[in-house]
Formats: sequence, C-alpha cells, structure tokens
Amino acid sequence: MPLVTSKEMLQAALEGHFAVGAFNANNMEQVQGIVDAAVEERSPVILQVSQGAIRYAGLEFAAAMVKTAAAEADVPVVLHLDHGTDFDQNVRCLRAGFTSLMFDGSKRPFEENVAITSQVVHIAHVCGIPVEAELGCVLQSTDGVTYEEVCDAMTKPGEAKEFVERTGCDSLAVAIGSVHAMREAEAELNIELLKEIHQMVKIPLVLHGSSGVKEESEVEAIQYGIAKINVATMLNQAFTRALKEAIAADPENVDPRKFLIKSRDAVKEVVRHKMRLFGSSGQVTASGYKSPKTVHRTAKIGGAEE
Ligand SMILES: [Zn+2]
Repeated sequence: MPLVTSKEMLQAALEGHFAVGAFNANNMEQVQGIVDAAVEERSPVILQVSQGAIRYAGLEFAAAMVKTAAAEADVPVVLHLDHGTDFDQNVRCLRAGFTSLMFDGSKRPFEENVAITSQVVHIAHVCGIPVEAELGCVLQSTDGVTYEEVCDAMTKPGEAKEFVERTGCDSLAVAIGSVHAMREAEAELNIELLKEIHQMVKIPLVLHGSSGVKEESEVEAIQYGIAKINVATMLNQAFTRALKEAIAADPENVDPRKFLIKSRDAVKEVVRHKMRLFGSSGQVTASGYKSPKTVHRTAKIGGAEE
C-alpha cells in the first residue's frame, strides 16, 4: 500500500498502549528486513532515515527504497526523517515524499527550538504531514557522557507542556534517561519523570536511544505515553555481526548476496522481537487497527525469540 503518515498510527498506539518501532535503515537489505518482519507480524512500522543515511544513500534513493518496500507490503508503512537538525532538511524531505518529519532543535536554546519547530510544523501541516520535535536532549554515548550530564539534559515537564502548546508539534521526543548509540542494554528510564510529562502533554511521546535501555524499562514506558520507539544501534549490530560470521564461515565466496542475505535475516529477527515486545505485532487487521483493549505482548523480555 502507499506510505501512510505517522499521525493516525501513533494515535492508535497511544490509545492502545502499544508502541510502534521506528527502525533506521541505510540500505536495501535493512529496508527489506524491517518491512518483511512487519508484514509477517501484522504490525504497523516506521522506517526512518537519518541525515547520515541521506548522505550515504542519497535522499531520492533512500526515499525510493522505502516507498517501493511499502508499495509491496500490506501493512501501514511510514517514511520518517530522523533528527532533521535544520529547517531546510525538513523541507527537502517533505518535497521527497516523506510522510513524517522530525525537527531536532534540542541542542538550541528553548526559544530558538520553539521558533524553528513552529516553522517546520506550519509548512508540514499545510501538506498534511506530522512533525516530531525534541525537548531535553538525548545525548550521544560516543561523546563520553556522564550520569550527571544525562540527568541535566532530561526533559522538564512544565517546559514540555509550553513547548507543545506553542509549536503544535504532533509527537515529542523526550529525554528520560536513554543515551544514543549504547551497545549494551544497561540504562533504566526515569519512569516517574515520564509519568509527569505524560500527565501534562497529551500527544504521543517518543523514546530515542532504546538500544541502551533495559527491555523491562521500555515496556513500562509504553504504559505512560511512549508510542514510538527508535531502534538503530541494535539493528546495525545484528547486521554487522551476521555479515562477519558469514564471511568467516565461507571466506572463499565472492558473491556478496550470500553474505548479505544473512544480514537481512538477522535484521528481520531483531525487528520481529521488538515488535512483539512493543505490542505492535498483530495490531493490523483488515479494518484498520485493533480496538485498544486487545493488545497482547508476546515477546520474552531481554532475549532471543521463542
Ligand atoms: Zn535519536
């Protein structure tokens, strides 16, 4: 089916107490692995490309891959910009057919973040496209952050309420203890802070940096407004691990397809696990989304799939 926007998808997730996985994709095998899992799991899915992915694959190429995968799929697929850090990047993605945008002004002063987010929201809403914004800052593990720095950067509930009212953003990425690009799931989220934010801000909330978060903490967060969970590092780890193992197992082979098919399968299994954990598996029915009362979380926490 054609791409859909994230507006209805995230609203259904918020009301149904599940979360939609937003999986980062840089190449064809990742796109296929993610969408194949969504089709088999009967799950809505968000494929997101970062500015780095756009530099790697090219904007039109990245968009075309996701559009093609969506057209072949019979579950709803969103093409989302992950961490667009300026107005122009958002406009370019809007023009390229993205069905969900993100302006990340989290490193800017509050008023500047409000001003640019509002501009992006204005132009995107004219085209019927929703916008994710970020307040507080989800830091980068590669910058060597300390626990104190993570706490200092957390979202303040009162500011979040004012920010959402003034900008009209459709979803909000919050900093509640996760850090980008962590390779082990060690972090616990500040659920009390999340509850406060969720009471004051009624739109869907977004968790970034999930690869470093304990799975029981992720599941708890879904009960308090987290409706979109970004997954990137874990997919890259699975892709690269499978590739290395495949090459090591058959060093004489020169056909890259024989290696990359292993990576594609590895990505698919991680996505499948996350969809079951987030409760998005089985949410797509012939008539749309299930009613809110029928969520079943079928994954085991913290590990390989049954
Ligand atoms: Zn992020």
